[in-house]
Amino acid sequence: MNIIMLGAQGTGKGTVAGILSEKLGIPQISTGDIFRKNVKEETELGIEANKYMKNGALVPDEITVPMVANRLEEDDAKNGVILDGFPRTIAQAEKLDEMLAAKGNKIDLVINLTTPRDEIIERILTRRVCSNQACKATYNIVMNPPKVEGICDKCGSELVQREDDKSEDAIRQRLAIYDEQTSPLVNYYEARGVLRTEEVSTKTNHLGADVAKEVVESIKG
Ligand code: ADP
Ligand code: ZN
Repeated sequence: MNIIMLGAQGTGKGTVAGILSEKLGIPQISTGDIFRKNVKEETELGIEANKYMKNGALVPDEITVPMVANRLEEDDAKNGVILDGFPRTIAQAEKLDEMLAAKGNKIDLVINLTTPRDEIIERILTRRVCSNQACKATYNIVMNPPKVEGICDKCGSELVQREDDKSEDAIRQRLAIYDEQTSPLVNYYEARGVLRTEEVSTKTNHLGADVAKEVVESIKG
């Protein structure tokens, strides 16, 4: 089963993807995480990608698309994947269709998360992530704090704030790109009949974990 997580920054894509990955036994592929790992390890790809990431801009397709193509070739991806952060443009979606079609696969489900904009900015500013690359658990110091401040519940590593989450300007820049370049994907996938839109908000107390549970139930019947 191939699933795409769609939705603006801070709507909980990573949270939903992480739970689905565990429950469905297919890997979560987060392009942002792969980029950040490369930045940290100062690989050639990381150095190049960081020029764009630090400004909240999209990394060019010449870098992003082959990176995803290579990841999809890995053995653990053969029974399906949960894509988190890709595709982000119509051009990337078309490339993805080609990559999957070449193997006789397709996108089965696109989960589109929506959250009120004021809540999104607040959530991103209060988001903290585990510094352990193998763990990557996400917390929120208000909504979902760790048991011990600054320490990951799962692995005991230090929690940090992502560089691009520190400035409200960089956050607004990413949201503007989402509106302009990524949101057209909603119609793209709706037209194919694979779109499932879910509102995630503290106001309605419907959060990522609830969405994940509902999706798993609908898949497993
Ligand atoms: P966010 O969704 O909060 O922007 P991500 O972790 O998904 O965070 O991505 C972090 C950064 O990595 C993005 O701002 C962008 O620079 C880069 N990136 C991630 N995925 C893509 C993609 N599909 N295409 C281009 N750039 C990407
Ligand atoms: Zn951790």
